[in-house]
Amino acid sequence: MKRLAGVIQRIGFRCTSCAKCCTRAFNGHVFLLDRDVTSVKAFDPAALEPAPAPEFCDQNGIFYVSGYAVRTRDKVSGSCWFLENGRCRIYDRRFTICRIYPYMLHREPDEHGYVDWRQFSGLDQHGEYDAVISDDESLDLARETKEYENAFLTQEIRFLEFIRDYFTRHQLRHVQKVYDDHVRRFNRGEEITVMVYHNGDLEQHRIRN
Ligand code: SF4
Repeated sequence: MKRLAGVIQRIGFRCTSCAKCCTRAFNGHVFLLDRDVTSVKAFDPAALEPAPAPEFCDQNGIFYVSGYAVRTRDKVSGSCWFLENGRCRIYDRRFTICRIYPYMLHREPDEHGYVDWRQFSGLDQHGEYDAVISDDESLDLARETKEYENAFLTQEIRFLEFIRDYFTRHQLRHVQKVYDDHVRRFNRGEEITVMVYHNGDLEQHRIRN
């Protein structure tokens, strides 16, 4: 925690409301924790879509993904559903990942293949730096970041355990060739079925590119 808080203080990031991070061009997609999905379902369910790149596809061509993402408004700008005139329409109740961004706790290989912690997203590509961040603020940010990453990994593990049991019970198996074939069909505009994991169960969606 102290190491992450130290990184946060050293970077001294401050948001300048450029809104880059709320677009697909800058960040692939906004993945939601189950608790965020429950809240958005209550006020704007149309904002949800199955997260991209499903983990599995069974022998019948049905995809399985570990959760939902926030829909983007259009293909050109890839703006978040809630971004309007460069401002977040739901800022006071924005999602967990939006609250901690750009901080993260990922272990990733660098360009030389060395695996180390990555604690910041998009360094020098957005915001401003060298702001003074107090000990208390940096520790709060570190705590929230760890809490998010922990919740994210817990959700992923639960999904994998659920799929193991579900596939065993229904005699399903992941087939990479079927996966690839159906991705091609999807890219050609055909409809596909995606089962989205949410709160310990699967929710079915028919989607088209
Ligand atoms: S919910 Fe708000 S803060 Fe989060 S990505 Fe969308 S516009 Fe940005």
